[in-house]
Amino acid sequence: MKEGFVLTTHELENALDFLRQKGLRITSQRSLILNYLITQHTHPTAEAIFNALKATDANLSLATVYNTLDLFIEHHLVNLAGNDDKQHFDYFAHPHYHVICSVCGRIEDVFDFSFDSLLEHAQVHTGYQIDHAAVEVFGVCQACQAKQKEDK
Ligand code: ZN
Ligand code: MN
Repeated sequence: MKEGFVLTTHELENALDFLRQKGLRITSQRSLILNYLITQHTHPTAEAIFNALKATDANLSLATVYNTLDLFIEHHLVNLAGNDDKQHFDYFAHPHYHVICSVCGRIEDVFDFSFDSLLEHAQVHTGYQIDHAAVEVFGVCQACQAKQKEDK
């Protein structure tokens, strides 16, 4: 996580309250998956989430992970991210944009950015009623730059 944004220790509680307000039942598995997404900033696939959590909850299934992620996406708590052929899941309660490595697919979050002028610009130019933004910027990450130098 980059500086400029700090998750509060109440983040999970706030997110669960949000789901309760939507009338959703909070199961231990929903809470477990949400907590994983809040605390890990790796934009994991559903398989990665399942593999990380199956030791904690032996009753967890990959199908439950997918269904739970679908539910979170439906309520705009989680977004899909990335540009490869896999689905990467991202806790998205706080606006941020992504910088994606074109070589290895690594996704970095940038939080200290205001989307206000971008959304206003989009509204003015199209007349759309804008509700959210998903911004992806592409480049080569530091690790891949170092590797490219070594390979030369
Ligand atoms: Zn890279
Ligand atoms: Mn992200």
